Amino acid sequence: MALGKTFPTYDPRTGEEIAHVAEGDAEDIDRAVAAARKAFDEGPWPKMTAYERSRIMLRFADLLEKHTEEVATLETWDNGKPYEQAANIEIPKVVRMFRYYAGWADKIHGLTMPADGEYHVQTLHEPYGVTGLIIPWNFPLLLYSWKVGPALACGNTVVLKTSEQTPLSALYVSKLFHEAGLPPGVLNVISGFGPTAGAALCSHMNVDKLSFTGSSATGKVVLGMASSSNLKPVTLELGGKSPFIVCKDADVDKAVDLAHFALFFNQGQCCCAGSRTFVHESVYDEFVEKAKARALKRAVGDPFKKGTEQGPQIDNAQFQKILKYIRSGIEGGATLETGGEQLGSRGYYIKPTVFSNVKDDMLIATDEIFGPVQSILKFKDLDEVIQRANATSYGLAAGVFTQSLETANTLTRALRVGTVWINCYDIFDAAIPFGGFKMSGHGREKGIYGLSSYLQIKAVVSPLKNPAW
Ligand code: NAD
Repeated sequence: MALGKTFPTYDPRTGEEIAHVAEGDAEDIDRAVAAARKAFDEGPWPKMTAYERSRIMLRFADLLEKHTEEVATLETWDNGKPYEQAANIEIPKVVRMFRYYAGWADKIHGLTMPADGEYHVQTLHEPYGVTGLIIPWNFPLLLYSWKVGPALACGNTVVLKTSEQTPLSALYVSKLFHEAGLPPGVLNVISGFGPTAGAALCSHMNVDKLSFTGSSATGKVVLGMASSSNLKPVTLELGGKSPFIVCKDADVDKAVDLAHFALFFNQGQCCCAGSRTFVHESVYDEFVEKAKARALKRAVGDPFKKGTEQGPQIDNAQFQKILKYIRSGIEGGATLETGGEQLGSRGYYIKPTVFSNVKDDMLIATDEIFGPVQSILKFKDLDEVIQRANATSYGLAAGVFTQSLETANTLTRALRVGTVWINCYDIFDAAIPFGGFKMSGHGREKGIYGLSSYLQIKAVVSPLKNPAW
């Protein structure tokens, strides 16, 4: 790296250093962009047949699958998520995502359309060129696949900046990509910090397209840099404060389990966490009691241990931030049903926390906590819950738990969010588009919609007959 500088990455179980990683800065971003530019303008990538690109991506998916154990180990070590979750859910989803987009590579094409006058009109769907991709720490490899998969399938080249909290897994798997036959310069991975490497990527004049996942606050800064440099288009996947609505006809036991999963999965560190649990007044007391019992049963501890459901939070800053929100909930008058403090004395473990009697204006109901803190609110009727669920600047996702088709359809159409899960939650199939309304972002990732983020449309018009001149 430019100055031979490195930075440490930490084990959230203990706070101890795992390794020192090369720290990329603006100069490294410049070099990486130059390599990606060359690979796009001169190199083989966009000039290869789409079938050849697809085969490299499929070979990579096979290699990744073969190395699941090592990759899941790195992911758990660096992030703190349960190993079983990494190995059995996330890495298989990453493999699936690359196979899904490999399948698209040779099926991307334009349209022909009728137009007034004697013209033949067609569109070509072309890659942007050099794409700058920035990802956060909560799902390091999963979000790598959501961006790198479609970017490469469309024939773009990539400069990816990983999160400074979780640089390890992306470095490992990108080596596998080269083993799979990816030509030099096509995929460049930079470990480094937001205000240095990240900012240099966002304001680079030679980056043609940005895709960013992270907080809404950083998203605004990213958009500003993109517009004040070369006006590059930006896809933004940002934060959320998603409602999970338990209707009066819900099976309470099942609703409790699903609401628990919707909030506590991945230590509560999900952009789409169901972090406002709205429960109908007729089942509220029963729900709260059972939600507390479920939280008390949650297996929290060493993420490498079999059966662990919840590991440590990512780092001390997040840990302190979550404890501060918990204090604000208590001071604001919500009822702390269980949890509310650190578990043990080492690492960043927090006891699964449940608040009842939460009011809409409390910070625990308005802010993205990004931790294992469930806020349970009471509602009386559908119109009221629709209004309250939508009364947020976010609009990423929502959960609806009901046995009534009519209620499900009413809520689905009224909620201003990018995803509604009905009687399920966190279903992340490769084909399902994901993204936000309002301040949860612009554009969609995954599925066929995710491809359009990485494609330019070129209209080509020619006369039907030879011109007279
Ligand atoms: P963050 O915004 O702090 O950082 C995200 C990435 O942006 C990191 O790589 C960071 O280094 C980089 N960055 C920070 N400052 C930057 C700058 N000035 N210029 C360029 N890059 C910069 O977010 P985080 O704490 O890493 O992640 C948590 C957030 O991500 C939450 O808000 C969560 O909701 C959101 N998230 C959204 C989705 C989604 O798909 N909508 C998915 C996962 C996480």
